Amino acid sequence: MKKLVSIVLIALLVLTVFAGCSQKQMTVQKGKLLMATNAEFPPYEYHEGDAIVGIDAEVAALIAEKIGLELEIADVDFDSIIPGVQSGKYDMGMAGMTVTDERLQSINFTDSYATAVQVVIVKADSDIKSIDDLEGKKIGVQQGTTGHIYAEDDYGSDAVTLYQNGALAVESLKSGKVDCVIIDNEPAKSYVKENEGLAILDTEYANENYAICVSKENDALLKAVNDALKELIADGSVQKIVDKYIPAE
Ligand code: GLN
Repeated sequence: MKKLVSIVLIALLVLTVFAGCSQKQMTVQKGKLLMATNAEFPPYEYHEGDAIVGIDAEVAALIAEKIGLELEIADVDFDSIIPGVQSGKYDMGMAGMTVTDERLQSINFTDSYATAVQVVIVKADSDIKSIDDLEGKKIGVQQGTTGHIYAEDDYGSDAVTLYQNGALAVESLKSGKVDCVIIDNEPAKSYVKENEGLAILDTEYANENYAICVSKENDALLKAVNDALKELIADGSVQKIVDKYIPAE
């Protein structure tokens, strides 16, 4: 009887250890690290010929290398990144994505690797000289972004026109369909540099933190990605990539 009890106990112990291991197993799609992004967000992600380049693309490539996986990038609408990561269609989302309490209800985030603030792009000759002039104006935003949320909260949804990405919103500003675009500061700077006749207004919107999102079901992947990211921040690799894309003024 004693022997039987110890066999059962050992079996239970072995089972518990196995269960623990399998829970910790890191799962990824197709043996690759499949990252979802929206590649109309320079300098974080944008197209250069056939390639998707930018800060996020380069940091993600180093993360993938560190965890021994090949990086694959899916270019999708910004507002389909979180649902896709949640459902397991993509392994992670990296898209200059701001950590918000609302998003934390549906996905997890790594540590932050960059900060941002929302600004307003106008035409250089616009009568909008400061954010006090935005009342009654047509505002363009990227659907599902923090800029979208701020614009609707502050000026109401009737004032806001939604675009699938920043490039389309800026095109619309240039052609006069909207009077301004609310978007993150670094993409704003890139768009203003690339398009003549645009200017940036500062706002008082709070600082935002960018991080990588991973499914709540995939703690092991979150840890692996976060550990790699921490190392890349600590050894200066992330800063080096940022400096390459955002030269000091
Ligand atoms: N930082 C903003 C957000 O997370 C915009 C990101 C983006 O458009 N790629 O909502």
